[in-house]
Amino acid sequence: MIDRIVVYSLDRLSRDPVHGVILMQELEKHGVLLEAATETVDNSEVGKLVFYIKGYAAKLDAERRRDATGRGKKELLKNGKLPQGTGIGIYGYHWIKEHKKRVPLEREAKVVKRIFEMVIAGNSCFKIANILNSESIPTKSGKKWEARTIARIVSNTAYMGITYFGKTSGKERKDNSKESWYALTDVTPAIISKELFNSAQEAIARSKELNPGKAKHEYPLTGFLVCGKCGSPLVGSCLRKDYRYYHCRGTYSTVNREKICDAKYIKAEWIENIVWEKVKEVLSHPDVLLAEVRNRKDTEQDQYSSGALDQEIKTLTRKLKGYAGQERRLMKAFKLGFTPDIILDEMNETKKEKEADQTRLASLIQTKENILKLEDYEEKLKELCARIVPDLDNCTNEDKKDAYKYLDLKVTATPEAIDIKGYLDPTVFDAQSCVRMASHSSG
Ligand SMILES: [Zn+2]
Repeated sequence: MIDRIVVYSLDRLSRDPVHGVILMQELEKHGVLLEAATETVDNSEVGKLVFYIKGYAAKLDAERRRDATGRGKKELLKNGKLPQGTGIGIYGYHWIKEHKKRVPLEREAKVVKRIFEMVIAGNSCFKIANILNSESIPTKSGKKWEARTIARIVSNTAYMGITYFGKTSGKERKDNSKESWYALTDVTPAIISKELFNSAQEAIARSKELNPGKAKHEYPLTGFLVCGKCGSPLVGSCLRKDYRYYHCRGTYSTVNREKICDAKYIKAEWIENIVWEKVKEVLSHPDVLLAEVRNRKDTEQDQYSSGALDQEIKTLTRKLKGYAGQERRLMKAFKLGFTPDIILDEMNETKKEKEADQTRLASLIQTKENILKLEDYEEKLKELCARIVPDLDNCTNEDKKDAYKYLDLKVTATPEAIDIKGYLDPTVFDAQSCVRMASHSSG
């Protein structure tokens, strides 16, 4: 079914050199061609040996660099203990620092059990938070309950005795190698039975099916907003059913870190209006926008006289392919009896040089893409303006999101201050210049 496999460079094929060589042999056996964008694949026996040694050298290098804390952490995990700094704040337990384990706190454990039972009885996380708040039961940090906090508790497998370490909230990491996450079974004693836990998951799935509309609250600024305090993304959050807010992700603790920010909620309508007014202002003078795009295109093209950029890309690509030869020469030195340490260091030196070239090549390609993007941009911008400018006051959220995307909008916000930046800033996004240029262009 597969004719050929193309990798960026051979060391991306596999992390483990042994696996890499096996893969190469298997591919060869099945007639699958292996190609690398930045080097020549040598299928000869010597080529395979070079490939193996290279991978081995890289692995050795990475291991050398790994710090002592990393080793200490792993040691703890192997002994079924949680490294310090994680899991301290989980509701329902007390953290015993000396033993690096959790011990149930009866008072809180009872609340956890109640939360699970309320979910199974069909209550929404929002309602449960309200009930707990009305009974003046505080969270671990002494604050009020939020629907989100409840949802996190109900989905945390630690409550039935399985603690994951190194797993980011819910989503499985791409890298599933055994170093990257551990399921520990005796760090957190279960306070919820497996049956209860599973029933709660089913109840949540059911309620999602019944109320698909609930997720329908739209947050058109999602992805364009970051926190003015800590730089984390702001995410949509709905309080008391109908009040939409944007809230800093840094204010929530995750499995891997405590909360890092205390930014307040930002009223969604308030910030959405301000941002849209600003963008509307910019869009209502498409001629100014287009003139700016043309201007930029001219400047970029001046910097790289026709062909010079392509030429350098070509040269670098060729140079990168040449590294294979250098590696073969090193192998010869190996055969001639040089000590492995010298060869391995040399290998890693070559690798660093190669990586520098790869970085340079990537940035050149980026520049080229920028130029192409600008060329394309003018057309797209014309389309967008033709579509939404005639009726800017009746734009849907989808239209607005399109506009934000085209203008590469980046909004930094706190409840007090909003800073709006865009692709064409500061020329266009600076209110002063926008007004000035607009009046200039209209005569
Ligand atoms: Zn923040």
